[in-house]
Amino acid sequence: MSVKVAVRVRPFNEREQKAQPKCCVEMSGPTTTLLPPHGDAPRHFTFDYSFWPHDPFDMTPEGLAVPAGESSPYADQAYVYDALGKQVLDNAWAGYHCCLFAYGQTGSGKSYSMVGHGANEGIVPQACHEIFRRMGENKDKENKFEVQFSMLEIYNEKVADLLDKSNNPQRTAALKVRENKGEIYVQGLSKHPVNSYEAIAKKMDEGYTSRSIGATLMNQTSSRAHTIITIEFK
Ligand code: ADP
Ligand code: MG
Repeated sequence: MSVKVAVRVRPFNEREQKAQPKCCVEMSGPTTTLLPPHGDAPRHFTFDYSFWPHDPFDMTPEGLAVPAGESSPYADQAYVYDALGKQVLDNAWAGYHCCLFAYGQTGSGKSYSMVGHGANEGIVPQACHEIFRRMGENKDKENKFEVQFSMLEIYNEKVADLLDKSNNPQRTAALKVRENKGEIYVQGLSKHPVNSYEAIAKKMDEGYTSRSIGATLMNQTSSRAHTIITIEFK
């Protein structure tokens, strides 16, 4: 098993910017350095990657945040995908189990990295584009591909299908999580065939509108429910 760890810092938000903050973190290559505020010695931590978000970066007319010039150390979404996301997809494609997860305080940039915002697509949408691109490139008639999408929410300990718009009594009566020969699945969860990333995005939007949302102190639109999106690729 191989584990890779990356640290990504997010830019200051509006509220922080107003307070004219002093940046207490530096990055150089894979090393993240913390600068203690009261003059103590800097502390260095080396990971597989350290992704730097502060200036200089440019905004394209499409709203894409990209490095300003070739020497800019700004890690944009494409850079993060190439460094991390691509490896995960390559391994999955080769038939290995792999998992990518984001950990951090509310508002630290997990969703931005995984899902993205506006034109700045995160790792998951970029990986999906790539799955369909590779499927389209396949010339071997013996190879058949199938992609299915499902989306559920765990809220107050109950599992609900976010894409089941029928009056299925199973949706209101919490779905059961079961195990069969080591495979964990949600009984009765609807699966939807998809043939492009646009189709996935449409399903995601559909599911998001059915979520239970409550703002947290750090984030106005944060959901306190857990949403699990499964993209099954056979
Ligand atoms: P989390 O999911 O960890 O709670 P978010 O991903 O929602 O945090 O990020 C909080 C805010 O910061 C969002 O408005 C997001 O767009 C912004 N943000 C996070 N990371 C970045 C980044 N690398 N570049 C630009 N904006 C970012
Ligand atoms: Mg989030």
